[in-house]
Amino acid sequence: MSGPVDQPGPAGPQTAAREVDWQDFREHLATAHKDGRRRWVHAKQPAGKWYRWRTWMSWALIGGMFAGPFIRINGNPLLMFNIVERRFAILGHIFWPEDGIIFAVAMLTFFAGIMIFTTAFGRLWCGWTCPQTIMMEMVFRKLEYLIEGDAHQQRALDAAPWTAAKTAKKLLKHAVFFGLSFLIGNTLLSYIIGSDDLRHIIADDPKNHLVGLGAMVLFTLVFYAIFARFREQACTFICPYGRFQSALLDENTMVVAYDHKRGEQRAPWKRDQRLELRRAEAKGDCVDCHQCVAVCPTGIDIRDGIQMECVNCTACIDACDAVMEKVGRPGGLIRYASSDGIDHGHPLRFTHRMKLYAVILTGLIALFVFLVLTRADVQAIFLRAPGTLFQQAGEGRISNLYTVKVINKTHRDLSVQFHLDRDEGKVVVLGAKDFIVPGDQLAETSVLVELDPKHLTSSTTPLAIGVYADGKRIETVETAFIGPRK
Ligand code: SF4
Ligand code: SF4
Repeated sequence: MSGPVDQPGPAGPQTAAREVDWQDFREHLATAHKDGRRRWVHAKQPAGKWYRWRTWMSWALIGGMFAGPFIRINGNPLLMFNIVERRFAILGHIFWPEDGIIFAVAMLTFFAGIMIFTTAFGRLWCGWTCPQTIMMEMVFRKLEYLIEGDAHQQRALDAAPWTAAKTAKKLLKHAVFFGLSFLIGNTLLSYIIGSDDLRHIIADDPKNHLVGLGAMVLFTLVFYAIFARFREQACTFICPYGRFQSALLDENTMVVAYDHKRGEQRAPWKRDQRLELRRAEAKGDCVDCHQCVAVCPTGIDIRDGIQMECVNCTACIDACDAVMEKVGRPGGLIRYASSDGIDHGHPLRFTHRMKLYAVILTGLIALFVFLVLTRADVQAIFLRAPGTLFQQAGEGRISNLYTVKVINKTHRDLSVQFHLDRDEGKVVVLGAKDFIVPGDQLAETSVLVELDPKHLTSSTTPLAIGVYADGKRIETVETAFIGPRK
């Protein structure tokens, strides 16, 4: 399964040889031999302005990624997805499972954002910001160039018999890869459990943190496997985003594209060849040097058209621009463009589909902002204490025992009180005199609700309990009070 997006190959002049290549591209995965064995991609190191810009952007993102768990806003992490405790932090704001609706709308907004972004800009995310691409191309691959040399040296090293020098290089590379994977695995773990908990796991007796240490080892092995072994397969086989694109991309989407109108009919550039002569022979600007293929980290030929494997990394743009400069032709034979732009010269357009997605996205963002701004500062949940019905209290009253969970979504500590809406009973907090809920925390207590039996309407009487924080009413909780059968 080669993974072309469902669109025809380049139009324009095509030679018979080109026709054969086109069929071949459709029927074979670029990174597999015909007998199914993997064809290892030894990508040549790119050089050029796009690579430079991507390098700067990557350093900024990598810095942010590693610093993220340690950045605090109001004492809370910048980002945290604590699935274990079901506690999430976004920009220093803590979200709880009870904020599920906000989370669901945030997810919908995220996916709608991806849809409109991909429809307009293709896989800009993959090439410029995806952690997998950034770490692979800007860290692991650069270290590989440093240890094993550029693509041709790597190829020679892989083909060479095992010697002490080869063993040393391979050992060094894999030790460095493993160490980095450990660092990345720990960073991911700190996004899940928080940097304080991670520090605790590292400093404390390992026997007390077998699950945490297990996660550390697992994450390290997964990242090591991805960067040392799977590489481009993570993008083509595992990541679902690459697969979405066939549904999201259209002829107006901006992608890294080969200008087949200008490039075909491809033919090698003969020394001292005059442009007019080349044109007279119906030859295009593509000199068929395969430099765009040599630098491609997913091993594809961009001249075959838009393909699922293309992560829009721009390496082929740089490679081709360098070739065009050498042969005295303008750059941009491979460039960011839409297929409509290449075929018909149209500028990038804001299409009806993009407008529709934009309206949906704006609506979702508005809904998300509304939900966040109107989110209650405190949320109380009353649950009947397990295994209890009702008890006789003093002065002939009936009591029910509840477990109360209070979530304080503000950043300050709150003193929480409970009062019945009606005057016919009282709520008694068991244990401490003041029930203090720390900022951004969940606290639990037990309360006894006592009612005069004459106010019971049936064996289950509806009850409204006011929740007060620092003396101010912030919520009314509806629950049921169980009494003797009437
Ligand atoms: S075809 Fe070009 S942009 Fe796409 S992955 Fe290969 S080198 Fe990167
Ligand atoms: S690098 Fe440019 S000129 Fe060379 S084969 Fe690729 S598209 Fe053609």
